[in-house]
Amino acid sequence: MNLSLSRELAAKYRSNTQVARVLTEAWVADQMFCPRCGNPSIERFPNNRPVADFYCPICKYEYELKSKNGTLARKVIDGAYAAMIERITGNKNPDFLFMGYDAKNFIVRDLLLIPKHFFVPEVIEQRKPLSATARRAGWIGCNILIEKIPEQGRIPIVKSGVIMNASSVIKKVNRGKTLEISDINARGWLMDVLSCLNRTPDVNFSLAEMYSFEDYLKRRHPSNNNIKPKIRQQLQLLRDKGFIEFLGNGKYRKI
Ligand SMILES: [Zn+2]
Repeated sequence: MNLSLSRELAAKYRSNTQVARVLTEAWVADQMFCPRCGNPSIERFPNNRPVADFYCPICKYEYELKSKNGTLARKVIDGAYAAMIERITGNKNPDFLFMGYDAKNFIVRDLLLIPKHFFVPEVIEQRKPLSATARRAGWIGCNILIEKIPEQGRIPIVKSGVIMNASSVIKKVNRGKTLEISDINARGWLMDVLSCLNRTPDVNFSLAEMYSFEDYLKRRHPSNNNIKPKIRQQLQLLRDKGFIEFLGNGKYRKI
């Protein structure tokens, strides 16, 4: 993998937005392997498809690229809010590739993969409607809150200019695949409990530590009055999926 963006290609376009899109898409088409199956390349869809930008010719997984000049922020601006929520709840969203590049030096700095099943409506933030004077007055966009996605779903491919080992990327993606749940409410619970689990500092943790997130989880799921049983249920699910181990007496270990 070579992190350079094409200066020659940039010279052909005028607007900065256009240059950014052309360069980053060309880079992915030239340099990116399929992080799902390891195929050496992924293909570009014809332009202006509403959903994904790339697909793997072998495993058929689809990818959408979001890139920005500079370091990757904790939230990324995306398109229409309603459409994004519909895509997520309908399981129609592709995997996302978030890229941070250095436009001055024509180089990719960061590339992060977030597999599609880590997206839940709670990580999509509604932006303020465009003002009455705007061309698309009243239109509502969204931000993707990357920081709200559990770390198992944030898989670096390039990090601060360092290329990660491809086979370890694929391994992480496949491990995360066991967390795939199509029911959106069930997925929300699993992601939330996983995020709480990630916030416990040690490899070993207790049920009491997990119960300390009860108020937080109640705020995220206000209609649920049985938060503690729900926490235990999700811990069982994480055990069945091989992410944690039960040690007995309310003690657990992360695997
Ligand atoms: Zn593939």
